[in-house]
Amino acid sequence: MPAPRLPAFDFGRLPGITDEHRQVQDAVRAFVEGEIQPHADAWDEAGSFPRELYRKAGDVGLLGLGYPAEYGGTPVDHVGRLLSSIELARGGIGGVTAGLGSHTIMLWPVLAGAREHVRQAVIPSILAGHTIGALAITEPSGGSDVAQLTTRAERVPGGWSITGSKMFITSGIRADHILVAARTGGPGAGGVSLFLVDGDAKGLARTPLKKIGWWASDTAALYFDQVFVPEDRMVGEENAGFRLVMQNFNGERMTMAAGGLGQAMACVEDALEWARERRTFGQRLIEHQAIRHKLVRMIDEILPMQAWLLQLAQRLDAGESPAGDLALAKNHGARLMRDCADQSLQILGGAGFLRGSRIERAWRDCKVYMIGGGAEEVMNDLAARQLGLL
Ligand SMILES: Cc1cc2nc3c(=O)[nH]c(=O)nc-3n(C[C@H](O)[C@H](O)[C@H](O)COP(=O)(O)OP(=O)(O)OC[C@H]3O[C@@H](n4cnc5c(N)ncnc54)[C@H](O)[C@@H]3O)c2cc1C
Repeated sequence: MPAPRLPAFDFGRLPGITDEHRQVQDAVRAFVEGEIQPHADAWDEAGSFPRELYRKAGDVGLLGLGYPAEYGGTPVDHVGRLLSSIELARGGIGGVTAGLGSHTIMLWPVLAGAREHVRQAVIPSILAGHTIGALAITEPSGGSDVAQLTTRAERVPGGWSITGSKMFITSGIRADHILVAARTGGPGAGGVSLFLVDGDAKGLARTPLKKIGWWASDTAALYFDQVFVPEDRMVGEENAGFRLVMQNFNGERMTMAAGGLGQAMACVEDALEWARERRTFGQRLIEHQAIRHKLVRMIDEILPMQAWLLQLAQRLDAGESPAGDLALAKNHGARLMRDCADQSLQILGGAGFLRGSRIERAWRDCKVYMIGGGAEEVMNDLAARQLGLL
């Protein structure tokens, strides 16, 4: 039974939201409530979710939202994608959302840089949920300073040979198509190229990693030992891979900010439901001023974030690239999620400390939002530069 929704959180009432946006929101919500939420606890405890879910998500068009129709996608604008990300996050199981969405960080560079026959071979199948995509940038030696990566690709007859390792890769175990960043030139950002590697390539080994949160998502270390990649599987120009990956960052940060917001909303709604029922000292929790003020304080952090993200999505739709604002929004979303998960868990008392609720998962999962997709400090530095502080 889905938790009742707080009318104040209804995005559909905000200016600029069209009927088309509301249809996207309703479709994603129906999918989350029908196909994900009933299994959330079981999948999280199992540390995995069925591969079948990709196909189901592909069938209803969820995996293809925002991608061109010619590759099997359903074009929607950034506002539509924002609403979709928030609805997915409100499901309150970040591991499933991260796994289902692992293609979103790898497909944009493929769209922008792969050869047409490679695009046709890879993109429709991922958007239909028949195959799974992953992006492999981060290495054991570090992820923040991407330009220093050391995995190497050497020219060999007919293509390239990749040797090195990658770390923390979402869908790394199950992925059929892995977009790998490797050094083909000199030091720094100008020596990096991208390659599409098959999941079953000879010389590729994958090891699962256990995590504090996102249990249902597969996260892996990848080892490349002279993995052969045919020439036509280079994505973009030689030594121009860094730029392609950078172009993806705005969208990734918007998705993570929306994820933090959506899970913060879910925490507040579950805590409110509890506070309306639970009684202490002769009255319902909500009747204790300290508790209802705690809830109101969370709501007054959430409402401005809704308006800010909507405005940022509208700016992206207008062709702007508000990279500094998006870096701050990503950080803000992560803090919002952390604070709302913590306060909501407190309202549930001992019950909040038990496993198997949206609040408990958010409390564990929030840390990854401060690290993945650019650590908090790196985002602050980016914002300082973009907003003209330096
Ligand atoms: C669950 C999970 C899933 C992930 N999925 C993927 C994926 O699919 N593909 C992929 O390529 N990567 C993925 N990552 C990697 C992620 O992007 C990196 O963890 C992140 O970029 C940080 O890199 P790092 O962990 O190597 O930390 P480091 O770069 O070693 O940094 C460590 C810490 O140092 C601090 N720091 C770093 N630089 C600065 C600075 N300039 N100023 C001040 N402080 C700084 C920050 O606090 C940072 O957390 C994932 C990570 C996690 C945890």
